[in-house]
Amino acid sequence: MSHPLHGRHHSVVVIGGGQAGLSMSHCLRGRGIDHVVLERDEIGHEWRDRRWDTFCLVTPNWQCQLPGFPYRGPDPDGFMGRAEIVSYVREYAKTFELPVIEGVEATRLRLTPHGFLVRTSQGDVTAEQVVLATGPYQVPLIPRMAERLPESLVQLHSSQYRNPDGLPPGEVLVVGTGQSGCQIAEDLHLAGRRVHLAVGSAPRVARRYRGRDVVAWLDEMGYYRRGIDEFADADAVRFRANHYVTGRDGGHDIDLRAFAREGMRLYGRLRGFSSGAFTFDQDLRKNLDAADAVSEGIKDSIDAYISSHGIDAPSEARYVPVWQPSVEPTELALSGITSVVWCTGFGRDHRWIDVPIFDGRGYPTHDRGVTSCEGLYFLGLPWQYTWGSGRFCGVAADAEFLAGRIELLHRGGRSSEVRWLAGSPPGTYESDDWVAPRTVA
Ligand SMILES: Cc1cc2nc3c(=O)[nH]c(=O)nc-3n(C[C@H](O)[C@H](O)[C@H](O)COP(=O)(O)OP(=O)(O)OC[C@H]3O[C@@H](n4cnc5c(N)ncnc54)[C@H](O)[C@@H]3O)c2cc1C
Repeated sequence: MSHPLHGRHHSVVVIGGGQAGLSMSHCLRGRGIDHVVLERDEIGHEWRDRRWDTFCLVTPNWQCQLPGFPYRGPDPDGFMGRAEIVSYVREYAKTFELPVIEGVEATRLRLTPHGFLVRTSQGDVTAEQVVLATGPYQVPLIPRMAERLPESLVQLHSSQYRNPDGLPPGEVLVVGTGQSGCQIAEDLHLAGRRVHLAVGSAPRVARRYRGRDVVAWLDEMGYYRRGIDEFADADAVRFRANHYVTGRDGGHDIDLRAFAREGMRLYGRLRGFSSGAFTFDQDLRKNLDAADAVSEGIKDSIDAYISSHGIDAPSEARYVPVWQPSVEPTELALSGITSVVWCTGFGRDHRWIDVPIFDGRGYPTHDRGVTSCEGLYFLGLPWQYTWGSGRFCGVAADAEFLAGRIELLHRGGRSSEVRWLAGSPPGTYESDDWVAPRTVA
């Protein structure tokens, strides 16, 4: 069978056609560097296929700053819904006629004596340099206790949840209170479903404070420009859960205590399942207090900024908890529960990348996306360099930075031993041809 891409060579192959891969493509185009973007599905499908119906951005639209394509819609302070986000991303590729090939999956990446070999579902492609823009949230994570739950229970990961009607009638257990868990719990709650929510340790942030969206304050305060190297606890910052808040209906706080007052049942972290009941840690009070403390701490820093810069901003009363757990429930009987929505996050699967650049946790060793293998880069990792790296607002700066590094090698800065030799037949390298990458300091 002949594969349409087999034998193609590009200076750069970008793997992944989400906002990161497209941003990279735009920056490479601007520098006149020949490249192709390989996307296994369709542009924008992560937003289209793995978000729920009422999904909205939590970051304001003005933060959508793809390179050369800032948000220009009518509602910069609003929060695009799922369909608008898909259009924004697809329109980007279309406007600049970016060289994306959809429906092509990269299944293996190797370094040969002559450059990179990308094995794809459509044949082998070779490249001098490769950018991995395969997404920050790849593999849905579900704790293995799920396997022990009765088959009668419908179980979904947050990436599979669409709307309340997609679940059978009855009570729902939502596990996890990151952004997805809180927003899905709210979606079900607003639809009148009885929700049981296992509350974890994710922090929260207020939507607005002292007359402005908190994101606007933090932006003005320079928070989004801070590099990861400015943080003493860089690792903790990089892997910390996102703050919960929502852009739904124009944007508002998510206050789990208010939900509880309205009838949602809150529990601590889900511990397990035994004798027909879910069991929980006794940390509900602690988790709610900690989330509020983070939110109030952010307000403290906004207050300090306002005062040190003599800004005329309205004063605002601080948050007062509207509900406290009288007891810490440690069990929830299965009866009545018909579904579980696991909002337990995502992992990454890099097993197909056959280049030794990973650390003991499987996380790629890199500095601002430049890996220890010359010519190999990541783009779009959460906190790759700044808060916005894995989001719409910071990917442009990262892509531009990488484009500069790629151009340096492209214009002749690359060591001769791994430079691609034009004319070498691609796709014929066996394991003996695999070479250890030249590590860069
Ligand atoms: C629930 C949720 C809410 C979010 N809310 C916001 C928000 O409000 N604001 C914000 O700025 N960000 C938000 N983000 C974060 C971020 O903007 C998105 O995750 C975004 O999709 C990341 O873009 P990306 O291009 O890096 O990755 P993705 O959009 O995941 O794109 C990666 C692409 O690579 C493709 N791919 C993967 N592996 C291969 C392969 N081997 N071969 C070929 N193609 C491959 C995939 O098909 C995919 O299309 C949110 C994320 C989630 C999960």
